[in-house]
Amino acid sequence: MTDTLRIALIRGDGIGVDVADATLAIVDRVVASTGLAPLVYDAINAGAGYFKDTGQDIEPDGEKRAGDADSIFLGAIGLPSVRHGDGTEISPHLRLRDRFQLYAGVRPVKAYPNAPQRLADPRAAGIDMIILRESTEGLFYSAAAHGRSDIRGDDEVRDTLRITRATTEKLHHFGFRLARRRKARGRPGLLTCVDKANVFASMAFFRKIFDEIAPQYTDVETGYNYVDAQALNLIRNPWDYDVMVMENMFGDILSDLAGGLVGGMGMAACAEIGDAHGLFQPAHGSAPDIMGQDKANPLAAILSGALMLDYLAEKTGNNAYADAALAIEDAVQSGFEQNRLRPMEFGGDMGTRAVTREILDLLEG
Ligand code: ATP
Repeated sequence: MTDTLRIALIRGDGIGVDVADATLAIVDRVVASTGLAPLVYDAINAGAGYFKDTGQDIEPDGEKRAGDADSIFLGAIGLPSVRHGDGTEISPHLRLRDRFQLYAGVRPVKAYPNAPQRLADPRAAGIDMIILRESTEGLFYSAAAHGRSDIRGDDEVRDTLRITRATTEKLHHFGFRLARRRKARGRPGLLTCVDKANVFASMAFFRKIFDEIAPQYTDVETGYNYVDAQALNLIRNPWDYDVMVMENMFGDILSDLAGGLVGGMGMAACAEIGDAHGLFQPAHGSAPDIMGQDKANPLAAILSGALMLDYLAEKTGNNAYADAALAIEDAVQSGFEQNRLRPMEFGGDMGTRAVTREILDLLEG
């Protein structure tokens, strides 16, 4: 048995509740079968539903409890029908990202057999890459949520793209470590710096820091792409990429593009990692159009649960958590291979509960 780890659990709104519960069922099972101590969950109320009832977007001590936990798992937050007075949606999770400086946004993009494939080229079956999106600065530094836009009456608005050495160094180190870990698991170990260094001083700075750090990781192959060329190549030859690191806005756009290549939102897992905290959630929202109908694909959330276990392995130095993460990834892979996973999202016959039950069965097998 190992030390007990504590997970802050924010189920949130809409399908967030269903996919979070599905994830817990799977994570608890692999943790038990790996011989690890059960995870202990601290459920924190937050989101649009909670705001509607209480006027607060998170429990009064919720942010602190999230910070005290070993990691944070989130279902989905926000409902279009519930808004602040200024029209913006309820988004306490953006404050968590800021408060805990979760700079490394990890978005895996992987093609599974029998899941939708948007490209006709058979090599698209080999798509397996990660978009590493800086998540605290870049062009989102002055995004609406932070209120830092320079608004000059009705004539001009300026947004700032901010690149700092401190965050960029940490981001690139994270990217190199990630590429190295993937290499150890049989991937190419290639890190591509995606920027616009030919035009913007901020992006030239981003690349300069990448070049400063690269010599510390000679086992990791490096490449460069301007963001416009990267967009083109993600359609032409996405199977040639492994890990791509980029500023916030570029990552926002390219991760949606890349996700579209391998299915839909129901497969899009996400980790947001800082120096001392990690938040794990599916990249999709609360999908109010299908909530309460047992139609949501829980795999994005379940794969985010696997990312969380991987993070806990790094954080604790206990590799059994990484084994538990691999067990989930293997179950999803073989479930698709054997056509035992047929989510309604892709026109199949399986809702949230059926997909979850099938993964539990696959784990038994
Ligand atoms: P947000 O702004 O919070 O990201 P959004 O409105 O942009 O939310 P989502 O809530 O992610 O978008 O949903 C977009 C659409 O994708 C939904 O209407 C839903 O039909 C579909 N969708 C999203 N997640 C899933 C899922 N897990 N399973 C099936 N369909 C999904």
